[in-house]
Amino acid sequence: MMAQNIMSDPQAAARKRMVQTQLVSRGIRDARVLLAMSKVPRHLFVEEALQGQAYGDFPLPIGEQQTISQPYIVALMTEALELLGTEKVLEIGAGSGYQAAILAELAAQVFSIERIPALASRARRNLESLRYFNVKIKVGDGTLGWPEEAPFDAIIVTAASPAIPQPLLNQLALGGRLVIPVGDCYSQTLTVVRQSPEGLEFDYRGGCRFVKLIGSYGWSE
Ligand code: SAM
Repeated sequence: MMAQNIMSDPQAAARKRMVQTQLVSRGIRDARVLLAMSKVPRHLFVEEALQGQAYGDFPLPIGEQQTISQPYIVALMTEALELLGTEKVLEIGAGSGYQAAILAELAAQVFSIERIPALASRARRNLESLRYFNVKIKVGDGTLGWPEEAPFDAIIVTAASPAIPQPLLNQLALGGRLVIPVGDCYSQTLTVVRQSPEGLEFDYRGGCRFVKLIGSYGWSE
């Protein structure tokens, strides 16, 4: 069974190793997240010349001065969303489409916003070729959210923000989780916000470093 899997997907072994050595060893426990990370072919979201490095413990360039995040950060942020499979999720910063594919494995519907049209088109192509039909991508300023589709059970922002954009809080369902790196342009704190009946609850999950969230409620260019 395993040999067959490795023969039909030569990167399956590298992916399995990534899950064990980078995710399980650092405390990622959600079995559904680990399964999704071992299933989604990350190498198909980067250009051919970088495919051999796709399962390394680092981010990689995806063009337009943007990056696909380190696998551990993708897993950590995804785990913090506490997805069970029925949720409507909003992602800000589609980039390569990789994080959206992970979300598509774990939730019912995924909406993702990307400000750079060329990246949005490539992300769409990547997802379509892998037959992820529960993801919608639009070009725009994600700091404004996607009001027509709100409320969302989970929102993930995959770029660094100086503060939590108010429109995203407004579009979070009761009980919903928002995961966002907040800080300056050099370092941020991974922040988890929960919309509870008593109000917003904040939890801080350590330091991280992302490219800038550029928009009305983010950085100016
Ligand atoms: N999630 C992506 C992936 O899996 O490849 C990686 C995201 S990359 C670290 C951050 C992305 O956020 C970039 O593609 C960037 O263009 C995008 N971005 C920055 N500001 C944005 C905004 N206001 N709205 C939407 N996308 C934005």
